[in-house]
Amino acid sequence: MSSAAAYAMAGPDAAFEKVTIERRALGPHDVLIDIAYAGICHSDIHTARNEWGGAGYPCVPGHEIAGTVAAIGPAVSRHQVGDRVGVGCMVDSCGVCETCLQEEEQYCLRGAVMTYNSRVSEEVQPGGHTLGGYATQIVVTENFVLGIPEGIELSVAAPLLCAGITVYSPLRHWGARPGKRVAVIGMGGLGHMAVKIAAALGAEVTVLSHSLSKQDDGKRFGAQHYYATSDKQVFRELRSHFDLIINTVSADLPINDYMKLLRLDGTLVVLGLPEQPLAVQPKVLAGRRRSLSGSMIGGIAQTQEMLNFCAAHGIGAEIEVISADEIDGAYERVVASDVRYRFVIDTATI
Ligand code: NAP
Ligand code: ZN
Repeated sequence: MSSAAAYAMAGPDAAFEKVTIERRALGPHDVLIDIAYAGICHSDIHTARNEWGGAGYPCVPGHEIAGTVAAIGPAVSRHQVGDRVGVGCMVDSCGVCETCLQEEEQYCLRGAVMTYNSRVSEEVQPGGHTLGGYATQIVVTENFVLGIPEGIELSVAAPLLCAGITVYSPLRHWGARPGKRVAVIGMGGLGHMAVKIAAALGAEVTVLSHSLSKQDDGKRFGAQHYYATSDKQVFRELRSHFDLIINTVSADLPINDYMKLLRLDGTLVVLGLPEQPLAVQPKVLAGRRRSLSGSMIGGIAQTQEMLNFCAAHGIGAEIEVISADEIDGAYERVVASDVRYRFVIDTATI
């Protein structure tokens, strides 16, 4: 076993504090990573504050991890010491079920092991639940370690490991490409990556935001159109307009108003996960053969494809680098939608 420094919450209302954690001894296929940067995803906040229930404490969030390989187990073939690597939301899956065999490990039928807050044996993670990337080091089995291509700084690559893949996967699945009209609801961490990636895929991109305050940024990221949803006229103007709508907002939205913005055979994909059920009117679905769907991160192979795509197109996240003692304040700003567009912790400050 080895020790690492980390930032943890002791309970749902606690402040972050520096702790020492243990990582397992390197198994044959394990990679020890020196973490350089860890992004702050809104899911970290939902989990650490136990808003989704089932949180284990101490809680060390962080599933947007970028760093370099410090050591490898004797059977590791995919990575070498010194490689620039990343870890996203998952650190293992069964590998043999139907969905794992389709390289969709995030939908593992036995349950993927998430990077933090998954119940595991003491051998996998001392303490019995996984501890994430707000730490100096992590040990991950080689198949769940991604290569970060040259040409992307580690700091702007870190958020790609969750925000990037979470939007890339549905954009690819539902075919964002030239001739397709894609709308992105909410331009935060996920949303700004959706704008950049959808634009790079050649789609015509529209942002549907609370207000026009981030309009200039949206255009800079590649959106052709930008609307404030506080203006109800927008919903009349854009009726039956989009092929694909990516909803990154976790608050309850008037879902039927947004569904009506889909043209024939259009799909609205839910990424944010509010607690309340969605009350969709059947006639809104039937009226244009519309679909409502959801998507969860992306498989490991597709995550590597996304990293390569972003490197080839010069895409990184827009970030604000913070030190570890600023995490509590950063959480407040994320909750207040006051982030442009991802906080990234410099783990050298832990
Ligand atoms: P974020 O950075 O906080 O962005 C969310 C954006 O939603 C905000 O920037 C804001 O955009 C908009 N928004 C916030 N509150 C709103 C409200 N009350 N009404 C309308 N719009 C509101 O969060 P994130 O990290 O992108 O994550 C977004 C959600 O996706 C979270 O719930 C997270 O847990 C979830 N998530 C899901 C997956 C998955 O695999 N499905 C993966 C990662 C995260 P505007 O200011 O532009 O309106
Ligand atoms: Zn995330």
